[in-house]
Amino acid sequence: MSSTGDSTESSYLRKRLERERAARAQAEELLESKSRELFEVNQILERSNEHLDEQVQQRTSALQAQTKLAEDNANRLNSAVQRLEIILTAARAVSWTYDITHHTFQVNGGDTTLLKFKLDEVVDFKKLKEALHPDDLTLFRETFSELSYLRTKIDIRVRFKDQDDQYRWFGLSAVASRSETQDPILLGALIDVQEQVKREEEALALSNKDSLTQVANRRYFEQLFASAKQEAQDCGTGFTLGLVDINEFRLINESFGQRTADWTLQALADLLFDRFEDTAAVARLAADEFVVLFHRNVKATQAFVDLEQLVTSIDHFDLNNGERVAITLSAGAACFPHDGQTFDNLLQAVQTANQKSKQSRFSSPKCVMYHPGMDVSRQRDRNIRHNLQRALIQNEFSFALQPLTTKDGTWLAAEALLRWTKGPRDCSTLDFINVAESCGLILPIGEWVIKSAIEQLGDIQKINPDFWLSINISPAQFQHQDLALTIQEAAAGTEVDLSRLAIEVTESLFLDDLTRVQNSLDRIKALGCSIAIDDFGSGYSSLGYVQQLPIDYIKIDKRFVDQITEHPESQNIAKAIIEMSHSLHSKVVAEGVETLLQAEALAALNCDVLQGYYFARPMAPEQFLAELRQNS
Ligand code: C2E
Ligand code: CA
Ligand code: CA
Repeated sequence: MSSTGDSTESSYLRKRLERERAARAQAEELLESKSRELFEVNQILERSNEHLDEQVQQRTSALQAQTKLAEDNANRLNSAVQRLEIILTAARAVSWTYDITHHTFQVNGGDTTLLKFKLDEVVDFKKLKEALHPDDLTLFRETFSELSYLRTKIDIRVRFKDQDDQYRWFGLSAVASRSETQDPILLGALIDVQEQVKREEEALALSNKDSLTQVANRRYFEQLFASAKQEAQDCGTGFTLGLVDINEFRLINESFGQRTADWTLQALADLLFDRFEDTAAVARLAADEFVVLFHRNVKATQAFVDLEQLVTSIDHFDLNNGERVAITLSAGAACFPHDGQTFDNLLQAVQTANQKSKQSRFSSPKCVMYHPGMDVSRQRDRNIRHNLQRALIQNEFSFALQPLTTKDGTWLAAEALLRWTKGPRDCSTLDFINVAESCGLILPIGEWVIKSAIEQLGDIQKINPDFWLSINISPAQFQHQDLALTIQEAAAGTEVDLSRLAIEVTESLFLDDLTRVQNSLDRIKALGCSIAIDDFGSGYSSLGYVQQLPIDYIKIDKRFVDQITEHPESQNIAKAIIEMSHSLHSKVVAEGVETLLQAEALAALNCDVLQGYYFARPMAPEQFLAELRQNS
């Protein structure tokens, strides 16, 4: 080989080497970059794997949590359903759904034995309606009409038959909703509210009743009055209102105590209730003031007769504790609409009538029918009261003296009867005494009577020292005055022999505190005075008082004397009074003797003293003294 040849070969080799080097370098570079890429891919892969793992883990635990929650919820739901079931049963309730469009009714839970039929059998309203009280049908129909879904809420009370065929009250409440198929439905509950209704009714009845007597109270009575008025107006009729009360009830309260007074009121309430249960409503308006509202079918005359019959037939109550309380009743009556068109007006009319019945205190108890003239008399009473005050100051009083005699007319004594010399013409002694008693003026008037009677007795004793004088004393004077002291003071400094003074008291006094009355009477007796019971037989009449109290005379009421010759009954009563008084060592005076026949009849019964127009009328003191002088 030649050197040229050699050099070509070597250059070729060199070049080849260089090429190979370059190629290797390129390859290395590629490898490098590829392996870098691979590394990166690998890293990405690794990262995404990690993320995936994480996600899988997260999902798994979320899934686990959800499963747990679902389980818990299912458990909770289960026990909630159970609890609801328990609550519904305990509340005597069922829950139900009513599909308004299809009229289907479904019970979902609760006490299904509440009603006559099994509630879960009910699929339509027919069965429910069958068990429903007829009076509740309309309400039920209206509530469950086609339009019921328009309401957001339903809450009614109706009666269904229970298993014993008895109607019980149920509360039916519901709210409007939608079913899964978007149909309008009602979701509701049916609850047995019988006990609650009963309690409510009891509470209502209680709030309408007077707690002491169990009759209607004033509040409720005003409602009864309003509906009676409405009814009467609708029917073009009227009705009668009666007012009954116990005379001198205050005295029962004061002398027997509140318990006895309460029992007395209860006895009266029971009596009124029994008598008028079928014809009237009875209510208590105030202390002893009872009203009787007659049904519009009861004629006024009948109502009047019934009331009159009531007051005349009762003279005592036998109380729960065995006690016996003597009472008299008075009654008034007035008619709607003639005598008053409002509650207040009619009540006022009936009170006025009742007041009139009281003022006739010396006749037997009775019922008085209102008439407009009575308002005039009310006004008149007001005038009398006003003028009496003046009369006291200006000394317008005097006495009329009426002799008390033996059967052959010998004067033994006189009764001093008060006169109001300048009083209104038509105003009798009883008229102004009644007014004076009702307003307290009887106290100063009574003092005047005592003082003047003692002066009068002084004049009489100058003529006949044995002659005695009697004066009338009102119960109020016992209550508010020390009578013995008043008499003693009036007699002080005079020569008057008090053993010739008698005081006349009415039986109503004995309704007062008996011990106190006895005490006063004893002290009056200690002054030497005599005690007489006036108008005996007109009121509470009990000879028991005569036995217990220091009574010297009994004055038989004019009523018996009037009838003694005509009614054997009156004669028998007079006879009994006289005999019993004598056996108790009391003397008997008969008052109001107007005829010879009466005088003879009384004399035949051994009546000790007689008084009346037949023997002598009450006369002015001058005339009396003149005649006494002649007689003595
Ligand atoms: P009283 O105590 O029963 O008096 C008897 C009344 O009958 C007297 O009426 C008398 O005038 C009348 N009278 C007497 N005899 C007859 C008769 O034969 N026929 C008739 N129809 N009446 C007769 P008067 O004077 O109008 O007195 C009425 C009542 O006024 C008395 O009834 C008495 O309760 C009361 N009163 C009179 N004076 C007083 C008094 O000073 N104080 C008090 N608190 N009351 C008095
Ligand atoms: Ca008298
Ligand atoms: Ca009398």
